[in-house]
Amino acid sequence: MQMQLVHTEKLASLGELVAGIAHEINNPLSGILIFSSLAAKDKRLDPALKGDLETISSEAQRCAGIVKGLLEFARDYQPKMTVCDINQVVVDSLRLVECQSVFQNVAILRQLANDLPLIMADQNQLKQVFINIFINAGQAMQDLKRGELKIITARAGDPAGGVILRISDSGYGVPEEQLGKLFDPFFTTKGTGGTGLGLSVSYGIIQAHGGTITAESSIGVGTTFSISLPPCTDSNQTDPGV
Ligand code: ADP
Repeated sequence: MQMQLVHTEKLASLGELVAGIAHEINNPLSGILIFSSLAAKDKRLDPALKGDLETISSEAQRCAGIVKGLLEFARDYQPKMTVCDINQVVVDSLRLVECQSVFQNVAILRQLANDLPLIMADQNQLKQVFINIFINAGQAMQDLKRGELKIITARAGDPAGGVILRISDSGYGVPEEQLGKLFDPFFTTKGTGGTGLGLSVSYGIIQAHGGTITAESSIGVGTTFSISLPPCTDSNQTDPGV
């Protein structure tokens, strides 16, 4: 609990700092993006110079992607809550990613319980969390001849009776010394291919929903993310459609 508090405070102050820097970077970056792509289209250009300008333009685009990720990380986590069925959010999220090449050799198994309570959630934010976990899982299995992604939903055993979602992959796993850093902002093992913000953003979102998110992993066996979310109650039910 103490660790969670420290993590939350760290996220909040980092969030402010990051939002400030990202906003400052955005303006000059837009200038670089516009003028480098305009210049690269100039017909009088020497081909070698054109290639250099295209590199500047694509690298600036990559910076813009990182800045977008930073702003997402730093934004206020106040979710727009509606009553929803977690199974539906899981299925919708999966549909958006299952065609990606990282799932080419992956069998996707779903065990979705049919007796789950409804939850109050911002569906887009939950989708963002699930998609991030699915893609990380796919990337962890992409070198395998055959991987397995298992998605389980269940009713929580505690008296509050919320829902539990477990997403397990059979990928390369996370070394023990890295497991405690997974939800830290900017922790990534993907070099320039990652921002290390996906799981810290996910952590903030699940926390804003009153839930918890944890990870377990074994090298060479795989990784499991467990998410618990509280049930919708009469007092928090505000959706007039339900
Ligand atoms: P990014 O994907 O940009 O690196 P994330 O915050 O989503 O950022 O993930 C942080 C790190 O956690 C990853 O770089 C990777 O090392 C590790 N990780 C996350 N999910 C998995 C997984 N399913 N299997 C192995 N490692 C993982």
